[in-house]
Order: sequence, then C-alpha cells, then structure tokens
Amino acid sequence: MLIAKVVLPIRLHQIFDYIVPDNLCTIVGAGQRIKVPFGNRQAIGIITALSKDSEFELDKLKTIHSIIDNQTLFSAKIWQLLNWAANYYHYPLGEVLFHALPILLRQGKLAALQETQIWQLTEKGRHFDTQLLSRSIKQQALLNLLQADQPVDNQDFSPAIFKGLQDKQLIEKVAISSITNDWRIDFQPQHMPFQLNQQQHTAINEIVRQLDKFTAFLLEGVTGSGKTEVYLQAIQSVLAQGRQALVLVPEIGLTPQTIKRFQQRFNVPIVVLHSAMSDKARLAAWLQCRTGDIAIVIGTRSALFTPFSNLGMIIVDEEHDSSFKQQEGWRYHARDLAILRAKIEQIPIVLGSATPSLETLNNAYNQRYRHLLLTERAGNAQLAKQTILDIKGLVLTAGLSQPLTAKIKQHLANNNQVMLFLNRRGFSPLLICHDCGWIAECPRCDRPFTYHQKQHKLICHHCDTPRTIPTQCPKCGSTHLVPIGFGTEQLEQQLNILFPTIPVTRIDRDSTQKKGSLDQYLQAIGKGGKHILVGTQILAKGHHFPDVTLVGIVDVDGALFSSDFRATERFAQIYMQVSGRAGRENKTGEVILQTYHPEHPLLNNLLHNGYSAFAKQTLAERKSTLLPPFSYQALIHAADRNNQYAPQLLQKIVDWLHTYHTDPSLWLLGPSPANQPKKAGYYRWQLLLQHGQRAKLQAILSELVIMIEKWSEAKNSRWSIDVDPIDG
Ligand code: ADP
Ligand code: ZN
Ligand code: ZN
Repeated sequence: MLIAKVVLPIRLHQIFDYIVPDNLCTIVGAGQRIKVPFGNRQAIGIITALSKDSEFELDKLKTIHSIIDNQTLFSAKIWQLLNWAANYYHYPLGEVLFHALPILLRQGKLAALQETQIWQLTEKGRHFDTQLLSRSIKQQALLNLLQADQPVDNQDFSPAIFKGLQDKQLIEKVAISSITNDWRIDFQPQHMPFQLNQQQHTAINEIVRQLDKFTAFLLEGVTGSGKTEVYLQAIQSVLAQGRQALVLVPEIGLTPQTIKRFQQRFNVPIVVLHSAMSDKARLAAWLQCRTGDIAIVIGTRSALFTPFSNLGMIIVDEEHDSSFKQQEGWRYHARDLAILRAKIEQIPIVLGSATPSLETLNNAYNQRYRHLLLTERAGNAQLAKQTILDIKGLVLTAGLSQPLTAKIKQHLANNNQVMLFLNRRGFSPLLICHDCGWIAECPRCDRPFTYHQKQHKLICHHCDTPRTIPTQCPKCGSTHLVPIGFGTEQLEQQLNILFPTIPVTRIDRDSTQKKGSLDQYLQAIGKGGKHILVGTQILAKGHHFPDVTLVGIVDVDGALFSSDFRATERFAQIYMQVSGRAGRENKTGEVILQTYHPEHPLLNNLLHNGYSAFAKQTLAERKSTLLPPFSYQALIHAADRNNQYAPQLLQKIVDWLHTYHTDPSLWLLGPSPANQPKKAGYYRWQLLLQHGQRAKLQAILSELVIMIEKWSEAKNSRWSIDVDPIDG
C-alpha cells in the first residue's frame, strides 16, 4: 500500500499520513497538491513524500480524496529552500509551503494560465507625456499609474476613462497569457546613458565575472552614488545570457522612480509584484516567471519565493531595511533567505545599501561577502554640510527653533526646497485634561491615543483603533482638553503659519494612504521652486528630490536614548538616508540636527567620521557585549487575554531548559513583559534565548518546539518563535 506524507496549512508541526488510492498511485509525487478529508471537512494538502509504511495503523488512515496537480509545484531548488527555512525558523512546513504559493493556488485553483484580459500600455502610451492629458485629470492619473506600474483600482476609474485612453491609442486590452513574445530571442543590449565612474566600473566587472556561481556582494554606496546603475548594468549581462533577475525592494509604493528606470532601460517583460495586485494577475505572474516568459521580477519580500526557469541574479536593494523581516506568522528574513536561495541556485546576489546592516557589514569585514564601495556621488553632486544645533534653552514652536526657522527662510529665499524630518505622525502624541491630568488612552493597549486633527479623531498607533475626540474629560467633566507634544501634522500647520505663501507638503502614512496621492505629491515637488516637505521616514526612502538643499532633523533625542540595542543603528541609517536627500545634482546641501545632547559621542562619530566609522564602533561594542551578530538570538512570544497562561508558558519553558539544557552558554532573559505589554486586548510576554553558536541554539529550539506543542499552556495562549529577531 502506498502512503502519502502530507502537510496542511495549519500551525502544527505534524505530518499526516493518507492512503493513496490505486488509481492515483502512478501520478502522485512530492510537491503536488491534493484534497484530503481532515476532521469533518475537506482540506488542501501538499505531499512531502511517499512511503510504503506508516507509523499509524493502516485501517485508521483516511484516503486521499483527489489530486489537483499532476506534477510538483516546486522546483527542487525552491523545495530545498523552503524545507530549510521551515526548519530554521521552526515554523510548520505546511504553512511555509502554502505561504510560498499565490493565493489562488492556496485555494486549490489550477496552476494554469487563464485567459484573462488586462489593460496594458501601448508603446505610445509608455512614452507619452502625461502632462498633455491635463484636460482629463482622471485619464492623466490613470496613465500616470500605469506608467509607474502602480496598482490600479478599478473603483477609482470608470470604464469610460479606460476607453478614453484606448481611443487615444495609449492603452490596449491584451490577454495575459499572450503578453510576451520571447524576450530571450531578440534581447538587445541597451546603449548606456553615461560613462561609468571608476568605482561603478570596478563593481560591475567584479559582479559579472562571477555570473556562474554563488557569490554574495555588498554594494555600499551613499545615496546618489550610482548603485541602481550598477544593478541595471549587472542585470543587463544576466539578461544577455537569457537568464532572469529578481530584485527585492522594501516597499513598492516608495520606489516608483526606480521601477521606471528598469522599465525604461530594458525592453523585456518586467513584472512588479505589489500588494494591490489582483489574485489572478499574481498567479499569472507566478506562472510566467516559472516558464521564463518574464525576465525581471521586482517585488517586496514574498517575491523571493517566485519560481524561475533560469534565475541568474538576485538584487536586494536597501538590504538594511527592516521590512524584509516578516513580523508576524512565519517570521522569516527575506534578505537572509535570499542569500540562501542564491547559494542553492549558484548565482550571485548583490546586497545594496548606503547604510548596510551591521550583520551584513560584519559578513563583509569577515570576507564572507565581497565588499564593493561607491564613495563618490555620481555626476557632480556634493556631500552636504552638517550642523548640530543645541536647542537647550531655546524656544520651540511645534518643534522648530528660531535658528532652524531662519535657515529655512534663507534656503527658500534662494528658490530652493526644504525638507523637515520628524518621525512622529499625527498632531500630538497626547491629549490631556488641563484640569485633572486625565490622559486619553487606548483601552486595548493601555497607551495614549495620538490626536489627529485633520481626521478629527484619536487614533491608537499601536492597534490602529480610532475613537471620536471627547468633548469633556470623562473624569472631571472639564472641557479643557489640550494636545501635548507635536507630530508632523502640527509641524505642517506651524509652517503654514510661518510661511503662508510657500506650499507645504506633508508625507507620512496618513497623508499617503489614498492611492496615487504620494505620486501626486512627488510630481508637485518635482516641478521645482520653493517648497517645504514635512514627513516621517517615508521621506527618507528612495526618492529623488534634486531641489532640496536644506534638511532639518527636528528631533533626534528619542532615538539616541532607547533601551533597544538596535535603536542607534536604525537612527544612523535614517540619518544617513535623510541627510543624503540634501543637495543632489549640482546644488550643495545642508543638514541641521536639533538635539539637547550635542556632545553625544555616537552622534559626533556619525557626523564627523561617517557611517562606516559609526558601524565599526558599534560592532566593536556589540562584540564586547556579545550581542548579535556576535551571538544568536531567538525570542519566544506568548500572549493571552487574561495575563495568566502566557507568562506561565514562558516560565515552563525556562524550567524545562534549566532541567534539560544545562548548557552554560545558553543565556535566558525573561519571562518579561514585551516592549508593548498590552496590545489589542492581549497581554504580551517574551523570553529571549541567546547562544554563541547558531547550531546549538537551533538544536535546542528544535527540541523545545516539539515539547511546547504538547503543553496545555500553549493551547491556551498565542505563542510564536522569532529566530534572529530584529526588535524586542
Ligand atoms: P543610488 O541608487 O546609489 O541612489 P543612482 O544609480 O540612482 O544612485 O544614481 C544617482 C543619479 O546619478 C541618477 O540620476 C543616475 O541616473 C545618475 N548616475 C548614475 N551613474 C552615473 C554616471 N556614471 N554618470 C552620470 N550620472 C550617473
Ligand atoms: Zn479632567
Ligand atoms: Zn490600541
């Protein structure tokens, strides 16, 4: 009798045995989806292996109901990657395999192209100047989105708008399955737009010399030093071999300009995987990558699992960005798995950043990665002048000191643009009763609500719960409720008062929620002329603002004095990104940092000696304190509604570890309340495990997970393991 070992998309490390009916014996195999009875329902499972035996009694086993795929959905390489990842992150294989598939496949749809029709730019539409459509704002907006390869929501555009563009021959309807002629046959290397500088030249040469084997490169270069150009030219030689390229980026919405450059450079099918994509389009992209019809995939972390017929290179842009780490469910790190994928595929991988993560830098210093440096800014752009502004004793209005305001005035007078960075959205982080001191708090998180004036709401920034603004204090009845502290909204308001004739654009999560709004802002700013930009770290990422000559960092002290050992690294990264915004092209820029601690050693090292010096100092500190990357961590989270089982579960783990793992180099911290001890009604606890050897920690976790799944405390709380956590 033939037994199929099957995993299901459930949070259990269990493999289920099913009998293969005779008529299916010759066509079943690992990696295929099947339908099986599970409990009193039918479930979709994936076969992981076939066997003649079962550890269960045969007459207790159920039989496979039907088979969905007649061949595996996973190439041997992806299969290896996913199995390794399930093991490493101690996450159930069933969940991992399903996670790697498009939604329609998870739901049991066939892995075959359906004839769907989509709108696509014509050649004319691709290069059409959208300004010429200014008489039809909607058509213009739609064409803008299509040109930027941004998601188009059909609710935003009526069929008549599409028809209008079609009549102008700017877009056409095509069947998805017939988008492509074979790009590999008529691939034309492009004429390169400029002379590479020496460092770019060296970098590209190094990379293309290694096309047939695994090599990891760290491409470190300040913003504007020409990293994207290096990616483009490296990819060009991959395409010339008829091979495909995968480009991982932190957030699609933040990289329209980069995507445009790829599309303008290469006359090959490029797919941009983004969250607003329809399930059908996503499946089509998945299938077309698998057959090789698509040449380049640009996407966020889950694009890593795209199947390719002949992958030739992986690029991870902004490799330090924390969005590559999935923060719930299967908590994998897409950059780390990308390295593994490149190793399995035997291809080069390029990690690019102006501010590499300390993990990656350490790998480069140890020569595990090749370190490629771009130290000059491409073109004539100069590095910005940096000033620390001591604000002790100064009057601040919405965070602005008088000297900073004077500087803003001066730069605007020269017809330049100014960017102010404040990593706190909303109007103010507190609403307080002036008479009794009552604070408006989110009852689910026990944290203060943020006051949002524009939306006229209180919003909890931890669980996103909105609430109407009370007119009276619920405690003393006073109507005197006052906002305390300031966020981007208040800063924007203050700037409008100070500079009534200058356009002020705020860019943060609130102001960019509406689709296409970020693009509109960027366009308005791109027109040049006096302009003030206010925003959170969204501003820091990727955009090109050639007319900004002054960057003001309104508040740095929050980041410098944090209990999280990674906070300074994150600050340094954000600082470099923000200050890199000033003075691109041929305008010299200036950066001003407001702080109460101008003598702070880290700040001074960063400003005077640069990111590398800062990184070396911080790595040395981490080494002496045995923090990552000089040790390995796993964080076990547990949460429940009664604040009972979660801490009990973690304590039980501690007791178990003390009894069965008397390894003196295993270091435990906790159980302790999580950074945010209460969230959305759940009390949250954590336990940190740290070990000097990765393999030892892994072995302990493997045993531990099997134990935990058996304990009743685990069934009564939500728990998870975060291997290589980046917060907490
Ligand atoms: P990064 O990705 O490091 O921010 P980019 O590749 O975007 O840098 O380059 C910054 C700007 O300089 C872009 O406008 C790009 O077109 C231009 N550029 C890149 N390389 C060169 C070069 N060798 N000569 C002139 N301009 C260049
Ligand atoms: Zn009160
Ligand atoms: Zn809340």
